[in-house]
Amino acid sequence: MSLEAAHGFPAELVTGSALRSLAPYLSPAVIAAGYCPSEGKANPLPAAPAFARAARQHGATLLLGTRVLTVSPRAGGFEVVTSGPVIQCAKVVLAAGGGIGALAAQLGITLPISDEPVQVHATEPMEPVIPHLVYYAGGRLTLKQARSGTLLIGGGWPASVDASTGHPTVSTASMRQNLRIAAQVAPWIASVRVIRAWAGIGNATPDLRPLIGEIPAAPGAFAGMFPHMGLTAGPLMGQVLTALVEGRDPGRELRPFALDRFSLTPPG
Ligand SMILES: Cc1cc2nc3c(=O)[nH]c(=O)nc-3n(C[C@H](O)[C@H](O)[C@H](O)COP(=O)(O)OP(=O)(O)OC[C@H]3O[C@@H](n4cnc5c(N)ncnc54)[C@H](O)[C@@H]3O)c2cc1C
Repeated sequence: MSLEAAHGFPAELVTGSALRSLAPYLSPAVIAAGYCPSEGKANPLPAAPAFARAARQHGATLLLGTRVLTVSPRAGGFEVVTSGPVIQCAKVVLAAGGGIGALAAQLGITLPISDEPVQVHATEPMEPVIPHLVYYAGGRLTLKQARSGTLLIGGGWPASVDASTGHPTVSTASMRQNLRIAAQVAPWIASVRVIRAWAGIGNATPDLRPLIGEIPAAPGAFAGMFPHMGLTAGPLMGQVLTALVEGRDPGRELRPFALDRFSLTPPG
């Protein structure tokens, strides 16, 4: 909490009757919580298309369903060969999540981005109970309630991989364990029905820090990837990458996130 406060996010330790009145949905066994009133949440289903619409309004051209095949430096910039048009550009940003590694390798840098299948569980809609984003420190659990009333229960539980397709699929073992922890933290959840679950790929780096910066061997090419929490970090990532592309000071210390940090030799 002191770290959050130092960065301008007031957070406080809430215990006893203050915790009970703030979060009556929690089990009495939960005796303390770190509370950050400005913590928010967003539903990616409407949020992601809203960002796309805003980008269009600001002049972006979106080529949906188009795959980038190669990115190569050319005099004055880059040539991007796609499954659609071939694009010449002065600068390029690699923001392809788990796909960044293959594109960055073409520009002379190895980025160790891992792919980890993870899953989330959604319940039947119910009356509004949880106005907060709950992160449980005692086990793998995140808990939030969508505006529709659905509870979203997750926490980075591993999904399975379908051997025939290679696609992530929901693991019932993970579902069971995730719901068991949810019912420990909020026992009434045991009587709410889970109606769907989905699995996807979470991307990470070995030190769990983001990758943000210019590719040293290819000036004018940038990459941005935030491990595990890329939806939350997306708007800030966009601001920082825009500043870098425009040659402005992003106003943040980016050295810990440098793209070449994994290839640097430690001082002897
Ligand atoms: C189950 C689950 C739960 C999650 N929960 C949360 C959460 O609660 N909060 C949170 O902040 N984050 C969460 N995340 C993580 C979040 O979804 C990601 O961090 C975020 O989507 C990353 O955004 P991105 O735009 O960087 O990359 P992505 O969303 O991975 O988008 C990259 C896009 O690039 C495309 N692409 C890749 N290669 C190419 C290519 N060669 N040519 C063209 N396109 C290409 C991909 O198809 C993809 O559409 C969760 C993820 C999963 C799977």
